[in-house]
Amino acid sequence: MAKIGIYGGTFNPPHIGHIRAACCAVSALGLDKLLLIPDRIAPHKVMPVGSAAPQQRLEMVRLCAGDDPALEVTDMELNREGPSYTYQTVEALKEQYPGDSLYLLIGTDMFLTFLQWKNAEYLWKNATLGVFYRGQKDEVNAINRQKEEMEALGAKVILVENPVVDISSTQLRRLLAFDCASPFLAKGVYDYIRSNNLYGTGENYRNLPMERLESVVTQLLDPKRVPHVLGCRDTAVELAKRWGADETDAARAGLLHDITKVLDGKLQLTLCREYGIVLDAFFTKNPKTLHALTGALVAERIFGENEAVVSAIRSHTTGKAAMNTLEKIIYVADYMEPNRDFPGVEELRRLAYSDLDGALKLGLEMTLSLLEKQGSEISPESRDALAYLNKSL
Ligand code: FE
Ligand code: FE
Repeated sequence: MAKIGIYGGTFNPPHIGHIRAACCAVSALGLDKLLLIPDRIAPHKVMPVGSAAPQQRLEMVRLCAGDDPALEVTDMELNREGPSYTYQTVEALKEQYPGDSLYLLIGTDMFLTFLQWKNAEYLWKNATLGVFYRGQKDEVNAINRQKEEMEALGAKVILVENPVVDISSTQLRRLLAFDCASPFLAKGVYDYIRSNNLYGTGENYRNLPMERLESVVTQLLDPKRVPHVLGCRDTAVELAKRWGADETDAARAGLLHDITKVLDGKLQLTLCREYGIVLDAFFTKNPKTLHALTGALVAERIFGENEAVVSAIRSHTTGKAAMNTLEKIIYVADYMEPNRDFPGVEELRRLAYSDLDGALKLGLEMTLSLLEKQGSEISPESRDALAYLNKSL
C-alpha cells in the first residue's frame, strides 16, 4: 500500500517555498509519491490581474518540480470544468489509486477553516490531513485546538513542520515587478516567467506618463495604503505650488514614496542584496525603516525617475541634514496628508504653508520623541536633520 500525497494550489507562480514544503512533506510523512496539482479556479480566490494562464502555471510547476522522482505534476484539476473542489480531486484519486492511502497537504489558514470546506467530512474520512506549520506560538495553539476538535470527529491529522521560506505568491509578484525575485524561484521558472513576460516582467515602467504611473503604482501597493499615497501626492503638489518646487516631481515622488512598503523587513533586505546595496549598521538592525531607501532604488532603476524625485523618496522617513525644498515637501506631505490623524497634525498643516522648515522640524521632533518613548533606535540621519535645523533656524 503506497502513500500518496496531494498538494494543490494556485501556484501563481510556484516558488521555492512550495518545493521546500513538498520535500518536507515527502520525508515527514514517508510519502511514496507527492502529486502537485495546480487548481483551475480556487473556490475562495479571485485571480489577480496579470496572472499566468492555467497552462502556464502547469508548465511552471513542472519546471519547479524538476526531475525529483517523488514529485509528479498533474493537470487533473485544470481539465475539470468549473471551480476546483478538493473533494472531487480526492474522489478521482481514490479511483486512480485504489487501496493506497491518501495524504492531503494544507497550510495553516486552510486547516483552521477546514470544517467550512465543501464536503469536509468526505475529505477527512478518505485522506489523512498533513498540516504545514511554522512553529510560531500563537499559531501552534490555534492548530492544536483545531487538531483536537477534528480528531474528536474521527479525522487523522499530522503536523508537518515546515521551515518555510516566508514569502507569498502576492509578495513574489511584487518582487518580480521590482526585478529582485530570483532568489525565490527555481531558475527554470524564473527564466520561463521572463521569456513569457508574465507578471508584468516585460513591462517598461520607465518614465511613465502621470496617469499610467498612478495606475501602475496603485496596483503594486497594498490596497489599504492607496488613499495615503494619493493624499501624499495631492498634498505634495499643493506644497510645491506654495514653495515654488517642481509640481510634476512632487506628484511623482508622492506617488512612489511608499512603493516598496508592502515588503516586510526580510524582503527589504533581499531587495538590497539583489540591487547590490551594502547597508550601514542602522539599516541592518532596523530593516523596517528600509522602505525609503528601497523605494528610492525602485524609483530610480525600475521607474527611471530623476534625481530630485529619487532623493526626495530616499529621505522621506528619516530626513537628513540640508534638505532641499522637494525633500522637505515630501517629508512633510507624508506626515500631514488628509488621512493622517494625530494630536498636533493641525499645527503641522498650518505651519507647512507658512514656514516649511518649521513644519519639518515639528515633524522630526514628533517622530524622535515617539521613537524615544517606544525605546526604538533613532536613525543618525534624523539626528543630523534636527541638529541642522536647530543650527540654521
Ligand atoms: Fe513611508
Ligand atoms: Fe508614506
